[in-house]
Amino acid sequence: MKKTVVERSMMYSVDLTKIDGDGAFPCPKCGVMISPDDETEEIYAIVETKVKDDELAELILVCNNCGSKIRLTGFLPQPEGS
Ligand SMILES: [Zn+2]
Repeated sequence: MKKTVVERSMMYSVDLTKIDGDGAFPCPKCGVMISPDDETEEIYAIVETKVKDDELAELILVCNNCGSKIRLTGFLPQPEGS
């Protein structure tokens, strides 16, 4: 039996509900800190955004350090009102 390992399009998943603090998390592969407040795209780039019922449901980003794709889930609904 041959075992084939496909690693070309490795996708990591990060659940934001399991992250403390301001939502920053280390890249699952290389450990670089990815902060949602960082909009420079120096550390990561957003490749796909999935919106469900006007709420952000899923975000796929790519780490510019190691090239891994990371799927972000667990977005909390934004509080409404002032
Ligand atoms: Zn990385």
